[in-house]
Amino acid sequence: MTKTVAVIGAGIVGVSTAIWLQRDGHEVVLIDKAGPGEGASHGNGGVLASCSVVPVPGPGLWTKAPKMLMDPNQPLFMKWGYLPRLLPWLRRYMAQANAEAARKRAQAATPIIGDSLNDHQALATGTGAEKWIVPADYVFVYNDRAAYEGDAFGFSLRREAGFEWEELEGEAFKAYDPAFGPQLSFAARFPGHGRIADPGRYVKDLAAHAEAQGARILKAEVTDVVRENGRVTGVRAGGRNHRLRRRRADRRCLVQAAGREAGHRRPARERTRLSPRALRRLGHATLAGDDRERQVRRDADGGPAAARGHRRAGRARRAALACALRAAGAQHPRGDSRHHLGEESRMDGPPPLGRRFPAPHRRGPGREGRLPGFRPRSCRFDGRPQDRAHPFAADRGARAQHRSCAIRPFAFSMRHEQRKTFAYKHSGRQKMTTKQILMAGAALATMAGAAQAETWDMPMAYAATNFHSEVGAEFATCVTEGTGGELEIVTHPSGSLFGGAEIKRAVMTGQANIGERLLSAHQNENPLYGVDSIPFLVSSFDQHEKLWGIAEPYVSDALAEDNLHYLYSVPWPPQGLYMNKPISSVADLEGVKFRSYSTATARMAELTGMLPVQVEAAELSQALATGVAESFISSGATGYDRKVWEHLSNFYEVDAWLPRNAVFVNADAWDGLSDEAKSVMEDCATTAAETGLERSKEYTQFTLDGLKENGMTVERAGDELMSELKEIGETMTSEWLETAGEAGTAIVEEYRGE
Ligand SMILES: Cc1cc2nc3c(=O)[nH]c(=O)nc-3n(C[C@H](O)[C@H](O)[C@H](O)COP(=O)(O)OP(=O)(O)OC[C@H]3O[C@@H](n4cnc5c(N)ncnc54)[C@H](O)[C@@H]3O)c2cc1C
Repeated sequence: MTKTVAVIGAGIVGVSTAIWLQRDGHEVVLIDKAGPGEGASHGNGGVLASCSVVPVPGPGLWTKAPKMLMDPNQPLFMKWGYLPRLLPWLRRYMAQANAEAARKRAQAATPIIGDSLNDHQALATGTGAEKWIVPADYVFVYNDRAAYEGDAFGFSLRREAGFEWEELEGEAFKAYDPAFGPQLSFAARFPGHGRIADPGRYVKDLAAHAEAQGARILKAEVTDVVRENGRVTGVRAGGRNHRLRRRRADRRCLVQAAGREAGHRRPARERTRLSPRALRRLGHATLAGDDRERQVRRDADGGPAAARGHRRAGRARRAALACALRAAGAQHPRGDSRHHLGEESRMDGPPPLGRRFPAPHRRGPGREGRLPGFRPRSCRFDGRPQDRAHPFAADRGARAQHRSCAIRPFAFSMRHEQRKTFAYKHSGRQKMTTKQILMAGAALATMAGAAQAETWDMPMAYAATNFHSEVGAEFATCVTEGTGGELEIVTHPSGSLFGGAEIKRAVMTGQANIGERLLSAHQNENPLYGVDSIPFLVSSFDQHEKLWGIAEPYVSDALAEDNLHYLYSVPWPPQGLYMNKPISSVADLEGVKFRSYSTATARMAELTGMLPVQVEAAELSQALATGVAESFISSGATGYDRKVWEHLSNFYEVDAWLPRNAVFVNADAWDGLSDEAKSVMEDCATTAAETGLERSKEYTQFTLDGLKENGMTVERAGDELMSELKEIGETMTSEWLETAGEAGTAIVEEYRGE
């Protein structure tokens, strides 16, 4: 029987629901307040993590979690003041941390996500959206076999779920993907997975297909369900009642696919402004049939969506319920005596768990036509950081992302190096002192806890041996000692806590209280941050210090607008040009892949005919090793730290500019400090700025000598190249002045003595 179905929410769930309903002959109205593919489905990682069926709570969590909480290098932290509120949830969560519950949930998850590549292909084939699906492996990477074996329980569940994998060790792993560092020597490779290259566009293309097939797409917020004579006849959206057209013998059906906004009643009301009455009708996965509504919600154990608590249902109601279950892509609870769904009302239903539902590697004939649609599953604990600018983004589309290589940051067997490599970002963590541990114990008993001494994590982007990082570490010690331990600062170099590009935002938002960042990398946010990177405006430390003396108050004000309190900054040595061949003029730069780290470097690449590639310092060596970048502009220090002589041959001293790394504190955190702590910090900052400047000067010659000693040709750029670069510098200075407004002009004029 044909139904007219209103699907609320046009994310991946709603859109795939609409398409499967259409294929089953139903009419669909797809309603979304923001339009298709604009919610969580817009910018997720796109990983089709079929084998990620193992839940985080499992046996051993009871012993492992406390250890992780006490180790600042582990990716688990707790805001201890939040513990009392968290406790009721935590108790239920930890009750699941046993083998039986984990197995049950893995078994429940397998039929839902265990074949997601196939499911997506079935959904998208013939829609025009199939081009976004990229079949790929899914890889768990470990330091060594022992670490992998430490995860044996999880793999046993995967085996029970029907997955098979290949173990890659040592050279075999290196040959499989040379991009991984030497500390990672073992991998479990799961074939038959994949990724969605652009999740947002994928959903939009699917929606366009649904529309082309006759679906009505409305851009409006649904605020209520319209009932007439006790029957659902439509929805209220965008301030209007939309009646669902009903033909003879048609049924109306409502599917709610409004994503996480509908996950809980109270937040849903707040966020979607659905009335309490509407919310009673629309729960997590609620639908309303044309005779009465029926709430369907996820299995209490976190398993597949399952209908609960409904008593005897009439045939029409069952049909509506089946519609919703199918529409939401959830498993038909066939075989579960709790759910009395009439056979006649089922669509071409999904098979029971683990039987007719082939795992990716067990695909076979007859699979077609029994596809249950797609029910996405949050992979937030899985996946390489693909949803942020990755150094290999340009190239890794065919190198790393194609393999959807996944590390589970919450896997307790995961070692420090793994976290470093994949830079899992955990934030706001407070390292516990003995006192805090005792207090936390008390909190667990009394549901009240508090922390006194504070620990601030300080993310830094450069190698621990770099002079900026060393000065930062000395600053941290100075503060810790100066405050008598009242405030401990722990530095995290090499982008191990937050990648360079993320540090400023992390501190602005309070995810970290303090951090160090190359200021000019944020020139796109405020041109004043790029005052130290105007090409050839200054070319020596003395000139630079003069410029900075004028610019510092302006930059400090700009940071204050970003909720940051500026502490100190240190210049890098003058910037030179690294190449993989000798050059004598700008013409030689044509087509060279150039690592950019700021708007200025990207613009410079553009003006010289090079191809800019965004790469953070921490990933520079890999980018050079893999040919993602062939050239870059930086100080001798960066090249020396990153041993670029392994990939490049020439360094040209052009002294283009001297960019600065700034250390700043979250303004709220700063305001919360005692006057004594502030004063200690300011004093330590002054010392750090002076020490840093001296180190930078010393490091200049040392690193240039180091480059030479390691076989690079280090020389001053020839006249032709210099004069061409300076011309480009003039262009860039004018461009910067145009964007930097009065403040920029005032700085440059004062510097030039105009
Ligand atoms: C950072 C991140 C990374 C992720 N990575 C992965 C991954 O790699 N792999 C994976 O499988 N999953 C991943 N996920 C999870 C995945 O994105 C979600 O599970 C999925 O997108 C949910 O789809 P949805 O259709 O339920 O919700 P959404 O895409 O959020 O769609 C819900 C829609 O409902 C609309 N809506 C809400 N209320 C109303 C209303 N009252 N009226 C009208 N419209 C309304 C919204 O505008 C929205 O468009 C990730 C999630 C995040 C946040």
